[in-house]
Amino acid sequence: MVNVTFWGVRGSTPCPCDQNRRYGGNTACVTVEAPDMDPIIFDLGTGLRFFGESLEGSDEPFRGIALVTHMHWDHVQGLPFFTPIHQEGASLEVHGRSETCSLDESFRAFMKPPFFPVGPDDLRGDISFHDLDHDEITWGRARIVARDVPHTGLTNGYRVEVDGVAIAYISDHQQPADPTSVAPGVVELCRDADLVIHDAQYERAEYALKADWGHCTIDYAVRVAEAAGARRLALFHHDPSHTDDIVDRLVVEARDAVSAGGPEVFAAAEGVTVSLASVLV
Ligand SMILES: [Zn+2]
Ligand SMILES: [Zn+2]
Repeated sequence: MVNVTFWGVRGSTPCPCDQNRRYGGNTACVTVEAPDMDPIIFDLGTGLRFFGESLEGSDEPFRGIALVTHMHWDHVQGLPFFTPIHQEGASLEVHGRSETCSLDESFRAFMKPPFFPVGPDDLRGDISFHDLDHDEITWGRARIVARDVPHTGLTNGYRVEVDGVAIAYISDHQQPADPTSVAPGVVELCRDADLVIHDAQYERAEYALKADWGHCTIDYAVRVAEAAGARRLALFHHDPSHTDDIVDRLVVEARDAVSAGGPEVFAAAEGVTVSLASVLV
């Protein structure tokens, strides 16, 4: 069984408040865990802190890999607050890309004064940064694929295949002028996936006002999942202004937009684990 857990599901900025309690107010962080394999983490938003809390009491030093889509705050801000990396012997490989310099330089640029008092080398565990751009790597028995995703700057999307299960993570996706088209790299990542976790930031009216802000409508998220033949679609990167009630309504609208035989749709919610098993037994 492969477990996918949502620790942060918001886009843009944390937004904890009573109206967002059910879906949660933390920014992007999702883990993929399989038996006898060190965890894979999609993005290091503020939800990462709660993944760290869930590991408290573990005897073994943490070892894991993080796949960062891009360097926007909502995808990296949680790193210094991930307490397992403050232990001797812990290690975290961070893979991703930065627009203007190496990933290593980029993280060191924002984890230093005056932005933050502690740098990556001040942590007791070992953090290493690796540039990853249109490539494939392995982690244990998992295959990881990185491809370009249209956004406001250079951004990765990821596909993880492990134990016969495929998960695609497309956190921030600029909808094209022609909403029937999908970038080939995105289709490749999502092809026949058991679960696609996809940007679902805007309603149509919001998108009309923010068409070049790097995101897409709920309908476009459905379009991507259907174009790739995915089995499930998790609406993700909820707009910080969307209350739980609004997200509930958007799920209903997204389900109405799905064609017969299309993907099962739900909204990603903080603290929820989706368990996936291979259908090829
Ligand atoms: Zn984002
Ligand atoms: Zn972004």
